[in-house]
Formats: sequence, C-alpha cells, structure tokens
Amino acid sequence: MEPTSQIEEVKALALGMGFTACGVARAESIDPSCAVAFREWLDQGRNAGMAYLQNHEDKRLDPRRLLEGAQSVICVALNYYPKQLLSPDQLQFAYYAYGHDYHDVMRSRLGMLASALGMDPLSMGKGRGEAFKLCCDTVPMLDRYWAWRAGLGWIGRNKNLILPHHGSYFFLGEIITTRRFDHYDEPIADHCGTCDRCLRACPTGALTQTDDGQTTLDARRCLSYLTIEHRGDLSPDTASAMGNCIYGCDRCQQACPYNRNARPTDVADFEPTDDFLHMQPKDWQQLTPEQYRRLFRGSAVKRAKYEGLRRNIDAIGIGPIHPSHTTDSPL
Ligand code: SF4
Ligand code: SF4
Repeated sequence: MEPTSQIEEVKALALGMGFTACGVARAESIDPSCAVAFREWLDQGRNAGMAYLQNHEDKRLDPRRLLEGAQSVICVALNYYPKQLLSPDQLQFAYYAYGHDYHDVMRSRLGMLASALGMDPLSMGKGRGEAFKLCCDTVPMLDRYWAWRAGLGWIGRNKNLILPHHGSYFFLGEIITTRRFDHYDEPIADHCGTCDRCLRACPTGALTQTDDGQTTLDARRCLSYLTIEHRGDLSPDTASAMGNCIYGCDRCQQACPYNRNARPTDVADFEPTDDFLHMQPKDWQQLTPEQYRRLFRGSAVKRAKYEGLRRNIDAIGIGPIHPSHTTDSPL
C-alpha cells in the first residue's frame, strides 16, 4: 500500500532500510511528570557512578536545546537479537554486545535514512535544506522516552522499550530535525498488566516497585552497570549474582513474555565472529590484552576495557559452569 501521509512515508523508508519500527514525535519538553521522576531518580543516586547523566539537564529534557529550531524527533528501532547464541556451557555476554559496536551501525543507518529523506548535511548552514542531528546514545537524550512518545512501544517494568510484536532486543536511534510534519504519532498503552516476571528474574533486586505502582531501576545493584560501567572491584554478592555472565545482563529481558516474539536480526554487523562463539571458559581465563583487542575490535565491549572484562572473569572464577544466564526461554 502506498504511504498516505508524511510520517507514513518516513516509516516506509525506515522499514525498507532494515529498521523494525519507526515513529515521529513532536519536538518539545518531556512530560513534567517524567522530568520529575528523572530528577528524583538522580537525587536518590540510582544513576550510580554515571555522573554524566546529571549533565546537560536542559538538553536531556528538551530536544530543542540539542538542535535550534527542532520541530520533530524521528525514532527508529534496530533489532540486535543474535542469530546464534552462545551455548549454555560457555561464559555469557549480553546479546547486544555480540556484534559490532551499535553506535557505528546505528549512526550509519540513521545517516542513510536522513539522506533518503532529503536531509543533506552539505546544504545545512547555507540557507538551504533542513537542519538535523543524528542521535545514537551519543547525545544527552532520553531515547526510551522518545521511542515511547513516537509510538514505537511502551517502557516495561524492566525499563526497556518493548515493541508490541517484537520484544525489547532493539537499539534505539533518533533524528532530531527542523522538519515539521502534518501530524505526529501517539504513545501506545503499557501492556505489562499484572506481570512481574522481570522483577522476579532480577538476581540483585535492582528493579523495585514504588508506592505508586511504577518500577524503578537502581543502577548501583544492576549487573549491566556493575560489569560494564563500574570501575573498581566487584563485591562477592555481585560476583555470585553474575552466575556465568561476564559482560552485562539480559535476565530481565529473557524473562519478558514479549521476547517470545524475538526474531534474529538480519543486520550482518551484529553477527558475532566465529572466534567469539568458540571461546571456552578456559580461553576466557587465559585471555590476554592482545586477544582482547583482536576479539573486540570495533565492539561495544571495549567500553569495559580489558581490565574490566578481566575483573569480571576473575570475579566469577572458572569452576564448573552453572548456567544462570543461558536460557533463551522467557519463562
Ligand atoms: S540487567 Fe540484570 S541486574 Fe540489571 S535490572 Fe535487569 S536483571 Fe536486574
Ligand atoms: S517481564 Fe512482564 S512486567 Fe516485565 S517488562 Fe516484560 S511484560 Fe512487563
């Protein structure tokens, strides 16, 4: 069927380029209640050592501060669910980290989408063309909020964006633009219902229910934060909670019934290398800085640096493997 409106035209282009979902929201300040919740979350120290989240609050709460004259935010989701998973007897990584660094892949695809939409970076600043900004976890922007605003999905109790028919294994990206659209997408309703599987699946209690029925994430207890962003030692409790996962944590996503619908990505850049897939526990134990550089060239795992991954490997010890992060079943 032919696209019937400006935003349907954008969506048709985005889906044709391999994005799973696309929506367009008006560029404006975020809802006051969301801004209050974000500030409270920071005030309670739940951002742990991610002090950068306290910076640029004006921009984080209003994309018009990121791009003068911004009218719209085009939001996209790109599937990263791996075609091939590490086997249960191997040490585990969060799925998003299997392949090439998503920042590069998303940025390149957003650039192609902007170009297909006639947004020419060369014409900007010369009185022609529209201004735009590509965002892929690289600017102070609440990407899940904007994906929700643009109707891609809802923010589940596990604090991930859930696409109704696809689940949550997606990278999010945005194009902030001065282009105005004739209408905008509407947020969709939360479909978590009475489910609390993600809360029960979390091994550290990082996800908790607040008095008003919302869920909050405490990064100080979250293995994704502790094994990637955190510098310094890991406590024995953290090491024990990691099970056999040495980078990140997917348990609150694996527990989510909506991820039953996860389909493998067709983005070749997100496919793991054979070397990565064949690493055995003893290989990880003997990992050298040179092997690390070779295995993770162009990978988001570089975020933890060799020292961080080494710390994680040493923390769990390499005895018999007791899988705790290996099932692909959401139940
Ligand atoms: S990523 Fe792991 S530790 Fe963090 S909230 Fe989810 S289940 Fe809990
Ligand atoms: S596991 Fe249940 S409560 Fe958690 S995000 Fe998924 S549907 Fe929502």
